Amino acid sequence: MSDAPKPAPARPAGRAGRNTELSEALKAYKGVWVFIEHDRGHVNPVSWELMGEARKLADKLQVDVAGVLMGGPDEPLDAFAKDAYAFGADRCYFVRDPVLKGYRNEPFTKGLTDLVNKHQPEIMLLGATTMGRDLAGSVATTLGTGLTADCTELNIDGRALAATRPTFGGSLLCTIMTLAYRPQMATIRPRVMQMPRRDDSRSGDGVEMPLGMIETDIVTKLLEFIPDANRNTVNLAYADVIVTGGKGMKQPDNFKLIWDLARVLGAEVGGTRPVVQAGWIEADRQVGQTGKTVRPKLYIAAGVSGAIQHRVGMESSDVIVAINTDPNAPIFEFAHYGIVGNAMQVLPVLTETFRSYLDKRIRKVA
Ligand code: FAD
Repeated sequence: MSDAPKPAPARPAGRAGRNTELSEALKAYKGVWVFIEHDRGHVNPVSWELMGEARKLADKLQVDVAGVLMGGPDEPLDAFAKDAYAFGADRCYFVRDPVLKGYRNEPFTKGLTDLVNKHQPEIMLLGATTMGRDLAGSVATTLGTGLTADCTELNIDGRALAATRPTFGGSLLCTIMTLAYRPQMATIRPRVMQMPRRDDSRSGDGVEMPLGMIETDIVTKLLEFIPDANRNTVNLAYADVIVTGGKGMKQPDNFKLIWDLARVLGAEVGGTRPVVQAGWIEADRQVGQTGKTVRPKLYIAAGVSGAIQHRVGMESSDVIVAINTDPNAPIFEFAHYGIVGNAMQVLPVLTETFRSYLDKRIRKVA
């Protein structure tokens, strides 16, 4: 048999209605895949969060989980594969080629669509990151299949992927199923799914596939890498402690109180959308549906009403503390601890209390 990829499909022949059997063409698609996103030697942790989710879906379907690793020949894809096995993959597909060093849409789309056409997974998950969103859209379009973006929950209904996401400005959740085409594709934002436990005793097999593309085939050229100035300073999605300010902080100068508490706690600072829109803090710090999804151990929200579009981005936090003057504010419906009071008075008290408590603890340890 030739190793050459099959030609781009042909949407799988035959439609499968909501309650009908899958057609033979669709039945050939088996397994759950995760696109493993990496950049400059580091895997984006969202890929491991998705690997944990892929494992759960695959166990329900009784199929294998595979990771897809694409990159330059000198990139540590084999080391990433070991991590992928530890997080739940049974197999990794590798596409190694010099033109895959540094993300560009064309070669990555070709690599991933060729792999799908040859090995036919039924489900493919990608992080809803800048790279994942760009790649998922072009791969789904090239394959002529469905893609559900920014999912908050994944399940199996019959043999189909039931992908849930917010809709109508976040006020409703809808569940979308791709019944007639394969693979069923979904993107999921960082921190929406839990990080799975590593099991270093696990191993898996590797399958290589050539890309069959040369530099002159690619329109986009990578001239220089300019790191994002905020990249190492704002790490909201993976912060353990976040102090967030909302419009109830009244004016930008009062945000100093948020920063003071964050500094004492070693926390990141977050904000609601109105605060970002007013220019009180940078857009990278927005928490919520159109901002970041976070899962810290402690989330302190001051002057935040708790609107649904904010809530969806932070409700998985282990402990939520809300400070609000309005005892009927929606945030008190899901906060673990609530302080009814003026944030401008409560925040300095919290800052001083934590400062003296932490100072005492440090002195005790010393
Ligand atoms: P407000 O709703 O104005 O609430 C201020 C709160 O502060 C009130 O509860 C008030 O009682 C309290 N307060 C007032 N004074 C004090 C005081 N002195 N001390 C303590 N508390 C005080 N929002 C997001 O946050 N993130 C998103 O990603 C996001 N995406 C959106 C996407 C769409 C499509 C839409 C339509 C909206 C989105 N929003 C988002 C906006 C969202 O609907 C709310 O408008 C927003 O979250 C409210 O922000 P807030 O809580 O800071 O302000």
